[in-house]
Amino acid sequence: MARYTEGTCRLCRREGDKLFLKGERCYSAKCALAKKSAAPGQHGQGRKKISEYGLQLREKQKTKRFYGVLEKQFRLTYARAERKQGKTGEKLLELLELRFDNVVYRLGLASSRNEARQLVTHGHFTVNGKKANIPSMTLKTGDTIAVKETSRKSPKFETLSNNRPVPAWLSFNEETLTGSIVREPAREDVDLEVKETLIVELYSK
Ligand code: SF4
Repeated sequence: MARYTEGTCRLCRREGDKLFLKGERCYSAKCALAKKSAAPGQHGQGRKKISEYGLQLREKQKTKRFYGVLEKQFRLTYARAERKQGKTGEKLLELLELRFDNVVYRLGLASSRNEARQLVTHGHFTVNGKKANIPSMTLKTGDTIAVKETSRKSPKFETLSNNRPVPAWLSFNEETLTGSIVREPAREDVDLEVKETLIVELYSK
């Protein structure tokens, strides 16, 4: 499974924004961005003027990193967004939100998207009653995600604690550890501070 190997907090410092890559730590005073917000590297302190292309690139990188998606897959997701009706930037975010690993994270079944990806790959969930272990799978309205019967007794799920609210486009039953997609996520449901139009401009060149 391809993934980022660069220091995770470093990615947030590069984007100057919290990307929530380290679970509970991101919500605590231990967050590296709270302590040191300058971009990493010896020139991090001195970055000032940024070109139009640079701005577009940063928005794309930030979005990729937020969802933990690598370039090729991000580009393919963008191509799918282009083929959908509506604003391409918003459709891109919709498709990223509907990724299986992101849904697991949003339901509070994992502390970060990275952990969600691992849990999915290790086969801890079912989708509509069937085993599913592909993190990039796009879910749809009406799909039901459940922790597999044999995984419910594992310490991870027995002591599940989630302080993040489950977004309105999802529903979650803590007793049965089952969630479902109530509707497609709208732009206002996405808490990532990104100007998706800049990504569209970048890819339209
Ligand atoms: Fe980013 Fe989380 Fe590290 Fe803070 S703790 S810098 S939000 S990965």
